[in-house]
Amino acid sequence: MEYTKNAVVTVTIEDVGTDGEGIGKIDGYTLFIKDAMIGDVVEAKIMKAKKNYAYARLEKILQPSEKRVEPLCVYHRQCGGCQIQAMSYEAQLAFKQNKVKNHLVRIGGFAEEFIDGLMEPIVGMEHPWNYRNKAQFPVGMDREGNLITGFYAGRTHSIIANTDCALGVKENQQILEVILEYMKQNQVSAYNETTGKGLVRHILIRKGFTSGEIMVCVIINGKRLNNEDALVEALSKVGGMKSISLNFNTQNTNVIMGREGRLLWGESTIRDVIHPRTLEEINSGKDAIDKDREGITFAISPLSFYQVNPVQTEKLYSLALEYAQLTGKETVWDLYCGIGTISLFMAQRAKQVYGVEIVEQAILDARENAKRNGIINAEFFVGKAEEVLPEFYEKTMAAGQSDHAMLHPDVICVDPPRKGCDEACLDTMVKMAPKRIVYVSCDSATLARDLKYLCEHGYELKKVRPVDQFAHSVHCECVSYLEKKRPIAYREEEVADCGCIYG
Ligand code: SAH
Repeated sequence: MEYTKNAVVTVTIEDVGTDGEGIGKIDGYTLFIKDAMIGDVVEAKIMKAKKNYAYARLEKILQPSEKRVEPLCVYHRQCGGCQIQAMSYEAQLAFKQNKVKNHLVRIGGFAEEFIDGLMEPIVGMEHPWNYRNKAQFPVGMDREGNLITGFYAGRTHSIIANTDCALGVKENQQILEVILEYMKQNQVSAYNETTGKGLVRHILIRKGFTSGEIMVCVIINGKRLNNEDALVEALSKVGGMKSISLNFNTQNTNVIMGREGRLLWGESTIRDVIHPRTLEEINSGKDAIDKDREGITFAISPLSFYQVNPVQTEKLYSLALEYAQLTGKETVWDLYCGIGTISLFMAQRAKQVYGVEIVEQAILDARENAKRNGIINAEFFVGKAEEVLPEFYEKTMAAGQSDHAMLHPDVICVDPPRKGCDEACLDTMVKMAPKRIVYVSCDSATLARDLKYLCEHGYELKKVRPVDQFAHSVHCECVSYLEKKRPIAYREEEVADCGCIYG
């Protein structure tokens, strides 16, 4: 058979691609089919044919996979957010566990049995819905000229009207409806990306899960809104409302927020608390914990970076803390520290923590967060990890201070963005020779690449554990740790014993 554009084929889906697409084969010819699921038998139409493979569109499910479930959201296929919502949660977790493992084997070059021996089971959610504490809704008009808000259809900028996302908090719907109503009543226009005209671009909603505090920020193509008092009047009645502000973005750009804004009502930040969890609690599978324990309080502004799934974040950071094995005597570097979340978590159990982060505002927030929590053993530096760390190392060595405590940390923790760590950063980490390296990653492909580098430079991978921060999407967070191999000096006796002449 010819596999050309528009040909319709019947195929059994045998595998899942890294983006959640179904993969099937006919006579060795591979088909990638979005929304098809492992175990399905489907009819698909070829959209783009290459010599050995093709991308095809799902036309009909002839025999559904037993991994299929009824998705909660009717828009899951159009929306770009939940690529695998039609897959049972159990199967999603297995898919992610396997994805991380495959990356470690294929990209990291680790033996499969070695990874099987050290990889721990993925930490899933008990209730994998309504978990996001932050959402950004684009505002626009439908074909009939009605104001709408919702989500961008996958890989496009056309808006699907939906105020009730199953991943967001329940309050989102009420808030969005209040704002749309206010816009109608006060002739406030929606921004149009093509013409650059119109006012309201996005609505940002954040909620502190522990505090219950809610923040709304309306992002506008201008500096003020018609009848702002009416907006405040209506929004401030929503239960939990703590902060209402505007953000100004007059640029023709995909970046959602501008740098400046104005507070309309309430406080400029909301609070949230992150609590440490025990390994037992993490392994129990439960989401809720008894909150009657000390945690770290964070102030969150419209522009701050903050993890979007607070329940899983507590599990993730607690695992990072567990892997760091702190006793109170340690010096720790936390690279890519953001607003100091992991740094402050670790500072409570370490002697001294040093954080490095590229965004200046995040570092200012980190210092404020340290103060707010009475933490005095955390210090923060602005800059790129791959510059701050090597420069500090070279300068201190050149000054003859090779025994400087900061050069000899016990633990280095990294939590880089998707592109992973720069080699200059890894190189200096290796020179600093910490006993342990804790690696928190949001992309297992770059994690595998970086672990390979570290293992080729004197470290041994000890544990890897995926944590499902983003249920129903294909993304997976992961925490791992490595230990420095014993230095050669300790091994001399063993070498002599074995009679090696190269000892
Ligand atoms: N550990 C934090 C933030 C992790 S996200 C938390 O969990 O909240 C990754 C962070 O790395 C972001 O804050 C980003 O601004 C920062 N970053 C990106 N590139 C960087 C670089 N080259 N050097 C230092 N920080 C960087």
